[in-house]
Amino acid sequence: MNYLYDLWDDFISLLFPRLCHACGGHLLRNENLICTGCFVSIPRTNYHLQSENPVAQLFWGRCQIEKAAAFSYYSKGSRIRNLIHKLKYKGIKEIGPELGRIYAVSLKSSGFTSGIDVIIPVPLHASKKRSRGFNQSEFISAGIAEVAGLPIDTFSLVRGVSSDTQTHRSRYERWTNVDSIFQVTDPEAIRGKHILLVDDVITTGSTIESCVNELLKTEGVRVSVVAIGCAVV
Ligand SMILES: [Zn+2]
Repeated sequence: MNYLYDLWDDFISLLFPRLCHACGGHLLRNENLICTGCFVSIPRTNYHLQSENPVAQLFWGRCQIEKAAAFSYYSKGSRIRNLIHKLKYKGIKEIGPELGRIYAVSLKSSGFTSGIDVIIPVPLHASKKRSRGFNQSEFISAGIAEVAGLPIDTFSLVRGVSSDTQTHRSRYERWTNVDSIFQVTDPEAIRGKHILLVDDVITTGSTIESCVNELLKTEGVRVSVVAIGCAVV
């Protein structure tokens, strides 16, 4: 039976080849989404092992962060960039939890996630979430939560426009403001908690900065940050 199954499996993969989302090469039967070659060769920053790393330094003087790290470097042509593009723009959602799980193994074993109470994915603006259909950071968070054994909160922090203050602004003003407005909907839900804020990519850090400053308005909140890619040098 196994032989017949394998034969059928090979036949199907001839017709519908399963390809690695990072390099485009063929996947072996035991590989899923990412080939072993890519898994091994994706460069790790190991920033979770050093407290004064470039991602943490990006926020110095901007907002109070406990710890910050990123899994890999987000550069042109990099495997991690290919993966994040497939996740965000081609809708291959399974890539999110897979990357989250891969990173969380290192985060957990190094103790980075100990003391964290809850994971909050960086919210997408509601209109973007509608057009994309999902928030990639929630999918990455799901993988981290699974490995680290932590809950996810997708309700307490939202992104959007507060209608009363926005209606009188010009279109340009609204455009520049819309992305940076975050609101805590239920301070009681996060009071006194150490939050792990999760994003897909950190570049300028301004989105994270806005989120953190909003979260810190609630008493006793501490925030740590992780992303899959960073474009910080
Ligand atoms: Zn590959």
